Amino acid sequence: DTSHGAILYLEDVTVSFDGFKAINRLNLDISVGELRCIIGPNGAGKTTMMDIITGKTRPTAGKVFFGQSMDLTRMAEHEIAHAGIGRKFQRPTVFEQHTVFENLELAMKMNKRVAPTLFFRLGSEQKDRIDATLRLIRLAGEEKRLAGLLSHGQKQWLEIGMLLMQEPKLLLLDEPVAGMSDAETARTAELLNELRGKHSIMVVEHDMGFVEEIARDGKVTVLHEGSVLAEGSMKQVQADERVIEVYLGR
Ligand code: ADP
Repeated sequence: DTSHGAILYLEDVTVSFDGFKAINRLNLDISVGELRCIIGPNGAGKTTMMDIITGKTRPTAGKVFFGQSMDLTRMAEHEIAHAGIGRKFQRPTVFEQHTVFENLELAMKMNKRVAPTLFFRLGSEQKDRIDATLRLIRLAGEEKRLAGLLSHGQKQWLEIGMLLMQEPKLLLLDEPVAGMSDAETARTAELLNELRGKHSIMVVEHDMGFVEEIARDGKVTVLHEGSVLAEGSMKQVQADERVIEVYLGR
């Protein structure tokens, strides 16, 4: 089980597609409050791994545990989301015809612990939470703007804010800075550094400069051919001969 303080534990997980092992005996252990970066070349199995954690893809073998002892392996996608795993896909999916504030409000009301129905009127405590989130996602002052008019980076931040409104126990971010300008990427790194320690977060990312910014003293996992090739500090994995080979050998 995961009684050693893990929020997520993948035990010997394998996924075969017609005999091809996209994930091959993967073991992964994320601690409560950790910000873990997952890197690896194209085809390493990063997306498939996220799909397994969220129940979109079923493992062929192995198990996935969440929190103290919840076995996610056979749970449905919506049950896993309800258990507290929030996933952000690469492309932002905000309600473009609604304002920034309304997007956060709707996301908050989708959290049944906060609002029994969509017609629930927010109290001051909830409005304060939205204000704090607006500051965190760098959209304070933009709350009345239509989400459809935001820049690509701002939409990505809004979606992170929407996920946070649902109070996930684990946040999965799939290439959060893909398509962002350098300035937006730097602000996203600041944002994630503010979340550090307060949330358990897993980030899959290609942009190595960004990974260096958010990895800090934390662990980085390098996936290759569906398993863990290396794990350690950014410095350690960057100096690892096997890691250099899979990145430069292409
Ligand atoms: P990454 O996200 O690291 O680029 P993926 O998880 O997308 O890697 O893919 C891992 C491997 O599994 C790739 O070789 C990919 O072609 C293969 N793969 C992924 N999904 C499927 C699928 N549904 N059917 C067959 N092969 C797949």
